[in-house]
Amino acid sequence: MKETTVEHKLKHLFALQQVDSQLQEVQDLKGDLPMIVTDLETKVTEMQARLKELNGSIKQSKIDRDNADMEIVDLAGKIEKFKSQQLNVKSNKQYDALTREIEAAEERTLKLEEQMESFEGKMEIAKKDIEALTVQLEESTAELNERRKELHELNKEHEKEELKLQHEREKLLARIDKSDLARYERIKKAKGGIAIVPIKRGACGGCFNRVPPQKILEIRQNANFFACEHCGRLLVSDHIVEMSLAI
Ligand SMILES: [Zn+2]
Repeated sequence: MKETTVEHKLKHLFALQQVDSQLQEVQDLKGDLPMIVTDLETKVTEMQARLKELNGSIKQSKIDRDNADMEIVDLAGKIEKFKSQQLNVKSNKQYDALTREIEAAEERTLKLEEQMESFEGKMEIAKKDIEALTVQLEESTAELNERRKELHELNKEHEKEELKLQHEREKLLARIDKSDLARYERIKKAKGGIAIVPIKRGACGGCFNRVPPQKILEIRQNANFFACEHCGRLLVSDHIVEMSLAI
C-alpha cells in the first residue's frame, strides 16, 4: 500500500508523542527535587540577607549607644562645672539659673541612660536572633548542598537518555508540518501531555470512550485526521502505531 500524506503525518506525530511521553517520564522521575532545590536556594538567600541586616542593626545600636555614652560623660562634666560655679555666684538669680541648667542636664542624662538601655536591649535581641538564625542557616545550607548533589546525580543519570530523546524529537520536528505541530501541541497542553492515541478495543486510548465502528473503519483508511468526539485527542489506527515504531 502506498503511503498517503495523512499516513505520513500521523505516524510522525504519533512517534513524536512517544518521544514526548518518554521525556515526561524522565521529568517525573526527577519529581519535586528541582523545585525543592530552588526553594532551598531562596530560603538560604533570605536567611543570609536577614543575618546581614541583623549585623547592621547591631553595629548601628553600638554607635548610638556610644554616642549616648559620650554625651552622658560630657553632661557630667558640665554639671560639675555648674555646681562649682554656684559656689561663687553673687545673686540668687544667678544661682537659680545654674540650678535650672543642672536640672536640665540631669534630666537629659536620665533620658540618655534610658536610651542606652534600649540600645543594649536591641543588641541583645539581635545577638540572640543571629545565634538562632546561624544554626538554621547551617542546617539549610547543609540540606541544600545535599539536595543539589542528589539533583546533579539524577541529572547525570538521565542526561544521555534526555539528549537522545531530544535528538529524536528534533529529527521528527523537521518532518512535521508547522500547522500539524501547532495542533498537536495545543491538544497536548490541554490534555495532560497526551495529544494522539491509538484505538484500543474499540475505544479512545486517551479517554477510553467508545469510538463508533464506522469511525474506526474510516480511521483505518488514514485519509483524514480524526479527533475523539469526547476528549478531542487525535486517534490513530494500529497500522500507524506499527509504522511509527519503524521510524
Ligand atoms: Zn478520547
